[in-house]
This record gives sequence, structure tokens and C-alpha cells, in this order.
Amino acid sequence: MDEIRRREQEEEDRRVRSRSNMANKMKMTQETKALIPEEQRNMFSNGFSSKDTSVCILCGVPLVEGIPDDFETSTDMELKRKLVVHDKFMSPWQFTKNLTTADKDLSRKVFFGRCGHVYCGRCINNINRYAKQKGKSRPKKKKTDLDKVGVEHMDLNDPEYSAPNRCVAQDCKRLLTGNYFFRELYV
Ligand SMILES: [Zn+2]
Ligand SMILES: [Zn+2]
Repeated sequence: MDEIRRREQEEEDRRVRSRSNMANKMKMTQETKALIPEEQRNMFSNGFSSKDTSVCILCGVPLVEGIPDDFETSTDMELKRKLVVHDKFMSPWQFTKNLTTADKDLSRKVFFGRCGHVYCGRCINNINRYAKQKGKSRPKKKKTDLDKVGVEHMDLNDPEYSAPNRCVAQDCKRLLTGNYFFRELYV
């Protein structure tokens, strides 16, 4: 009789443990989703002179906040020079043209690459779209010498700037390929 009760007790303990393990696991998943992992947080600022650590590494848009609804393409050449030459943003969002509502929505999404660098959804969309169009026959990238070519004359909407095939973080340059390179961060 005792033996039977002991076994029943054991069985019950096991059920309780497995239920609470499951609950813990679900709770942890939720918490991980809500947080930017520690190592990713440190990578926001990699290689950039700008101390702002919460912007898209390619276009500089504030993460989550995105592009304002009433946005109009800037014509401020001083700003353009500062953003490109000083802050090293290859395709500053302030100078994008023909932005759609969908682009603005996308700009509020946050993605991080397997290399740990963080991009806004609009840039990821550009990168993916261009990669698909071009397939593997991408023209060799010309090196632009910012001192010789006036930044004022650069069309930053050119995919060469707005849809690079390598990560733009200094000292990274990883190829942005594969469907699972980027993962959305739910914030
Ligand atoms: Zn961006
Ligand atoms: Zn990277």
C-alpha cells in the first residue's frame, strides 16, 4: 500500500515539475523577446563616431521611432555632408526620396544581423529587394572618395549606398546574404 502511494506521489511530483519547467521556458522566451540581448546592445555603437547608439547603422533613423509621418526630403547640404562625412551614415534617411507610407512603417521596425549590427526595417527591405533583383551578378563596387566627389552630388538613393551587400559597420563588412541573416527584434 505504501509503495503504491509513494509511486503516485512521485508521478504527481514529476507532472508538477514538468508543468513548471514549461511555464518557466515560456516566460523566458517572452522575456528574451522583449529585451535586446546584452551583446547586441553593445554592438549598436560599433565603429561609429556618432555616440548615438540607438539608430539604424545604415540610414541613421532613430530605432523604433522611425521616420516621421510628415517627413519631407531634406535639401540641407550642410546636413548631408555632416551625416555622410562626419557621422559616416552611407544613406541618411533625411535624404531619401519617394518614401511611401509602407516605407515609413518599415522604418519603425528593428532588425539585427547575425553579425550583431542593427538596421531599421526599411533598410533591410531595400537590401533584400536589391539582392533579389541583382541575383549574383552585382557590379563591382566603385570606391567613392568623399574628398574628391562632392557629397552634394551623390545620389544616396542609389542602391550602391542604400542597399549595400555587406554590413556597413566598420570592421564588419560581412556579406548580407541568406534568408536568415537578419532577424526582427520585437521591441
Ligand atoms: Zn535604416
Ligand atoms: Zn555587421
